[in-house]
Amino acid sequence: MQFGEGGAGAFSDGKLTTGIKDPRCREVLELFYGAGAPEEILYMAKPHIGTDHLRTVVAGLREQILALGGTVWFCTKLIGLRTEEGKITAAFLQTPQGEKEIAVSDIILAVGHSARDTFEMLQRLQVPMERKPFSIGARIEHLQSSVNRAQYGASAEHPALGAADYKLSIHLPNGRSAYTFCMCPGGQVVSAASEAGGAVVNGMSNFARAGRNANSALLVNVEPDDFGGNDPLAGVRFQRKWERAAYALGGGNGSLPAQKVGDFLNHRPSVCAGKVEPSVRPGVRWTQLDGCLPEYVVETMRMAIPAFDKKLKGFAHPDAVLTGVETRSSSPVRILRGKNCMSELSGLYPCGEGAGYAGGILSAAVDGMRCADALMEAHSEDEFHE
Ligand SMILES: Cc1cc2nc3c(=O)[nH]c(=O)nc-3n(C[C@H](O)[C@H](O)[C@H](O)COP(=O)(O)OP(=O)(O)OC[C@H]3O[C@@H](n4cnc5c(N)ncnc54)[C@H](O)[C@@H]3O)c2cc1C
Repeated sequence: MQFGEGGAGAFSDGKLTTGIKDPRCREVLELFYGAGAPEEILYMAKPHIGTDHLRTVVAGLREQILALGGTVWFCTKLIGLRTEEGKITAAFLQTPQGEKEIAVSDIILAVGHSARDTFEMLQRLQVPMERKPFSIGARIEHLQSSVNRAQYGASAEHPALGAADYKLSIHLPNGRSAYTFCMCPGGQVVSAASEAGGAVVNGMSNFARAGRNANSALLVNVEPDDFGGNDPLAGVRFQRKWERAAYALGGGNGSLPAQKVGDFLNHRPSVCAGKVEPSVRPGVRWTQLDGCLPEYVVETMRMAIPAFDKKLKGFAHPDAVLTGVETRSSSPVRILRGKNCMSELSGLYPCGEGAGYAGGILSAAVDGMRCADALMEAHSEDEFHE
């Protein structure tokens, strides 16, 4: 059985690149292809499904789950667990028909990195969790034509070349690292807040990657000691603080705070767009981003942008746009588990990005397989001992 409101992954960009080396990655690509993803994901070096195709793929995967005897409950939320002698015995669910309790012995808990209510529920149950480093910053947008020129030179207009991408990173003298992440050629910046009163940005692109702008997250690493608290959910409070500051700077009406790179580097607020029109909907409020990111993050970004311009000409173009804030690069929490993928709470398998074991679609899918294998192995041992 699987429940939820439709994977956040369903609305992501669908870049299927990963740093993990696991033979199951191939199996995931084949499953996606079987569920309707373009065939080229099986052989491209940097496979990309695109937000437009991803919806079909998720529906295709759901059909496969149903065909194999699974059940999908929409609009159904896990709100609590019954435990007896350190084991899960039941799950409490909120459904459109009201709350109900179902008997369960095992749960693969893959709730994503924004399931703050679930993290709180687990904390109340004293499920072992810890603070986890992640990264924060802003989305940076350039004209795709300028990225193409920087990467392809004189061939930039050649029709056989797709929209160019980039990946940049630097370690700076202040001990912080800055890097670009989730680069979306020909894509658009999207508002990805999950709580009222908070502003969060992310990026996506359709399969064709034909948009006017290129965007990526420009991120700086933050460590548990930056969070201002020792409890497992200190990182969630840290995220929320900056998301609320960004919401207020955006004017409190859903607009996102934005600043041109030239103004950002010169410590002055922006008042209007230059050559790069921000793509985010409903729009931006021109301001100064210093108010919605920690000082050490903006200072690190100010060092990184000119350094990245040396590697990718035009990265520091004064009209490039920074939109805030990017706080959900990965989970701020790790739900601890043993080698058998199980929590100290017997029957609970913390899984995927929200539990701190994945950083993207492919690694989350592989972690799902890993947890499913562990669960089956645990039960095959039960059968053996019966
Ligand atoms: C705009 C955007 C673009 C992205 N682009 C890419 C990309 O190009 N490539 C990439 O690799 N990654 C990308 N990502 C990240 C990627 O989507 C995640 O890494 C991945 O989806 C994590 O998978 P997951 O299964 O761990 O969690 P999720 O996909 O987040 O799924 C968690 C699910 O659990 C549900 N849930 C939460 N709490 C409960 C509860 N209490 N009860 C029931 N259900 C619950 C949620 O509604 C959700 O459906 C992007 C993300 C976004 C937002």
